[in-house]
Amino acid sequence: MSESFLFPDQLATYYNKVAIRESPLLARLREETARLPAARMQIAAEEGQFLDLLIRLSGARRCIEVGVFTGYSSLVTALALPTDGHLLACDINPTTTAIARRYWAEAGVAGRIRLELAPALQTLDAELAKSGEGSYDFAFIDADKISYIDYYERCLRLLRPGGLIAVDNTLWSGSVADPRKRDTDTQAIRAFNEHVHADRRVDFCLVPIADGVTLARKR
Ligand code: SAM
Ligand code: CA
Repeated sequence: MSESFLFPDQLATYYNKVAIRESPLLARLREETARLPAARMQIAAEEGQFLDLLIRLSGARRCIEVGVFTGYSSLVTALALPTDGHLLACDINPTTTAIARRYWAEAGVAGRIRLELAPALQTLDAELAKSGEGSYDFAFIDADKISYIDYYERCLRLLRPGGLIAVDNTLWSGSVADPRKRDTDTQAIRAFNEHVHADRRVDFCLVPIADGVTLARKR
């Protein structure tokens, strides 16, 4: 893990030693991404492992990702899928997703991924019209925070009952609990957390891993 607001340093060092198992390809993608100014947007290694486990455990075959960046979480997802699995990957940035495409090809999973370069709400609405409600098993949301509730609502419709949504950054480095923090992203994440807390259509858990990952299972 990178620096953690949840773990004291000594425990973080220990956790890094015994809890992280990153493949050479994922480690190389992390190194390449670290050279970009926006490197902090990449998910943590332990979160990648967590997503891998969730996808394998749930037996998901059809997945959605909102927010690809350089492809770490999409690569994890595609590698965890069976060979006939499918990932609909949404982003708006052709430059960072070109890096993602390179790693998908190297891993031999490019054929499992459809990248849509357009605002994700547009892509999800088009997918609802095309494939219909209940047509997906798993969704990972990690794009602009202001649209989190809208992404969640679209993904909830796209998922079958029993399907799982994972949402990143729901602890926002602790800012959500600091009343002095009134910026747009922090307010959006607070609103999202309250939305899920009150949502009886799902079973849920806010897991304090990495920057906080909310899991919501459609009832
Ligand atoms: N999950 C990625 C990973 O594992 O490295 C990190 C995603 S990064 C935090 C957020 C991404 O959301 C950026 O690549 C950005 O281009 C994308 N994004 C921002 N606004 C978007 C929108 N309206 N529609 C689709 N993607 C968007
Ligand atoms: Ca994130």
